Amino acid sequence: MLKLHDTLTRSERELRPLDGKTLRFYCCGPTVYGPAHIGNFRTFVGQDVMRRVVELSGTPTLHVRNITDVDDKTIRDSIKAGQTLADFTRGWTAKFHADCQALNLLPPHVEPSAVAHIPHQVRMIETLVARGHAYAGSDGSVYFRIASFKDYGRLSHLEDRELRLGASEAASAQDSDEYSKDSLADFVLWKARKPEDGDNFWPSPWGEGRPGWHLECSAMIQEYLGDDFDLHGGGVDLIFPHHENEIAQSCCATHGKFAHHWMHSAHLMVDGGKMSKSLGNLYTLADLEQRGYTANEVRYVLISGHYHKPLNFTFDSLTAARSGLQTLAKHEAALREKIGASQPPSHGELITHGTPGLFADAWENLLNDLNVPGALGCVFSKIKDIPATRDAWLSLWFILDALGLTLPPPAGSETVDVPADIQALAEKRWQAKQAKDWAASDTLRKELEAAGWLIKDSKDSYTIVPK
Ligand code: AMP
Ligand code: ZN
Repeated sequence: MLKLHDTLTRSERELRPLDGKTLRFYCCGPTVYGPAHIGNFRTFVGQDVMRRVVELSGTPTLHVRNITDVDDKTIRDSIKAGQTLADFTRGWTAKFHADCQALNLLPPHVEPSAVAHIPHQVRMIETLVARGHAYAGSDGSVYFRIASFKDYGRLSHLEDRELRLGASEAASAQDSDEYSKDSLADFVLWKARKPEDGDNFWPSPWGEGRPGWHLECSAMIQEYLGDDFDLHGGGVDLIFPHHENEIAQSCCATHGKFAHHWMHSAHLMVDGGKMSKSLGNLYTLADLEQRGYTANEVRYVLISGHYHKPLNFTFDSLTAARSGLQTLAKHEAALREKIGASQPPSHGELITHGTPGLFADAWENLLNDLNVPGALGCVFSKIKDIPATRDAWLSLWFILDALGLTLPPPAGSETVDVPADIQALAEKRWQAKQAKDWAASDTLRKELEAAGWLIKDSKDSYTIVPK
């Protein structure tokens, strides 16, 4: 059974399906106004590893991930592009799907779009208004009354935020004539139509407009997963206010408990900082493919740090991914030839196989809050001694499938072929270095040097080169 960190209780908890059968979960999907960047994909790939581990454990899943196809950015950029909102977002949704496929993400079972669920959102607002949790402001928009939900703030645990909000509210009181909300913290459920929205508005009992961003997830979750469901996920930036607002809306509209487990992925950083267009360090999958890297190498990098810790992206880490994948490919190809197998087994076949066998230690790492770096370390330390049996080969694929990795054809002699035991030693040294065990890290470096290999460290990764 997978033990996963839960943001709400700040503890690791077993992920047991509420209905005893299927793990039903929701992930906030992309806003489709441009290509998703590799940071977005860190979150989606992390969720994919979680789903694969659950399914390989023998529990089927129901995975719902939305498409945000109406908000300020999609409207602004579709008008700029001279396209209808529908045409504009259709193009970027198709690009997102192509990237997901290249990165070997299992497609969600349901992928609802916000625009296709406007009536569901209007109905939810009507319920909230009827129950006194929402009100129409003087500007024609409808707001959620935060003061009506006593548990507001439980997910983000930010007591000081409330204090700050209180202070800014007091400061804004002088402006209150112009203010259309009862309280500064109240957030919008329905946005009244504005000239800059162009043709993008819908009718509602409060006049023409469009739903607020937070509401779409609550309405679609209710439609596809009901009032209570197993798990909700997204990047850490969504904890506040997006997920806090989803909880408030849903709990007040349904009387359910909403998500019973919260999974948040830490951010992908570049050059130790935030990725941003203005800094020129925002990479898409296409950017990296243009530089000669494969989607599989990008996936390897994205999972190579624990999902709960920030990960710094570097080009060195892509080089390390290439070398790691080559080591795996070389041994897997040799094993496959010996046992006379052709195609790697499918995800479905591995679910039926159902056991990590020889790689039980790697699997334990995955069941322990998805410790992918630990699991990879176990795989590298065993792979060169793997017995030539079909069972051992399936066990290897059981772990690779959990990680969603495919293997490239083994490279010819022109590329440096790092032996598995060297790769394992290098990984061990890297772990020692991460744990600041300088003595062990030094000893391992010397051992590697004695064997004829040099380690070149960058800030967040390493490469192995012959001496
Ligand atoms: P968006 O398309 O902006 O709604 O984001 C889609 C998903 O990517 C959300 O779950 C975000 O939390 C997540 N996300 C955004 N930036 C990053 C990042 N730098 N690293 C990891 N996840 C991110
Ligand atoms: Zn959401």
